[in-house]
Amino acid sequence: THFGFKTVPQDQKESLVRGVFSSVASKYDVMNDVMSLGIHRLWKKHLIEKLDCGMRPNSSDPLHFLDVAGGTGDIAFGLLDHAKQKYGDNESTMVVADINPEMLAEGAKRCLSTSYANSPRIQFLEQNGEKLDAIEDNSKDVYTIAFGIRNFTNIQAGLDTAYRVLKPGGIFACLEFSQVDNQALDYIYQTYSFSLLPLMGQLIANDRDSYQYLVESIQRFPNQETFANMIRKAGFYVPGKGYENLTFGVAAIHIGVKL
Ligand code: SAM
Repeated sequence: THFGFKTVPQDQKESLVRGVFSSVASKYDVMNDVMSLGIHRLWKKHLIEKLDCGMRPNSSDPLHFLDVAGGTGDIAFGLLDHAKQKYGDNESTMVVADINPEMLAEGAKRCLSTSYANSPRIQFLEQNGEKLDAIEDNSKDVYTIAFGIRNFTNIQAGLDTAYRVLKPGGIFACLEFSQVDNQALDYIYQTYSFSLLPLMGQLIANDRDSYQYLVESIQRFPNQETFANMIRKAGFYVPGKGYENLTFGVAAIHIGVKL
């Protein structure tokens, strides 16, 4: 390969491999940054505050969180931090599930520099979100997924599985790129997506194809109403219209409750 593993002495291989691994993760980070102009950080913060999760001070039942397609742990650490800072919750648990072992390795590595380093409260599991084989029925209080479900081969299977693993009363929350709700803005956004993004991908990451895929996967993803109906179809109660648009619908948060 162009990394030249064969010619690298054994003792340097490890760090080289680590570099390649973490480049998968930083590649996603950069993609999110480019696609949202950095705004995905604010959207994630908004999701965490909107959910406002945490074991309330007079409760003795820790919450069990599951962050699917959790990759590098942004949402997972954010949810636990919120629970701790706002409710003094030091007990609730988190499972980060992702199909890609390299992403999980990066998440686990980043975890070492948080206050959850080596904590049994947080676990990284290699799992396909469409099945979640290792997660029991009715076992989770909160299921989150950010910029992940778009990549599922079978999105409805992913939603059905989310319903399966949540306890009655559990919350499903999805943050995903969506469809812009204003015609003029959509025109600008489409122009940006289709012409500028692949070019930026080329220039920033030397990776035009991945950015092309990113744009197409966003195009293919069902619009807000259709996605809300899929969540209903999985069995969830969808409060209100079922979603909140962020930045004119460039992204949206969908919520479902397992009654
Ligand atoms: N949630 C993180 C965030 O918001 O920064 C990571 C998002 S990253 C763009 C998409 C993630 O979805 C990747 O880590 C990828 O491995 C994961 N993924 C794709 N298909 C999946 C599947 N079927 N099951 C679980 N994870 C999946």
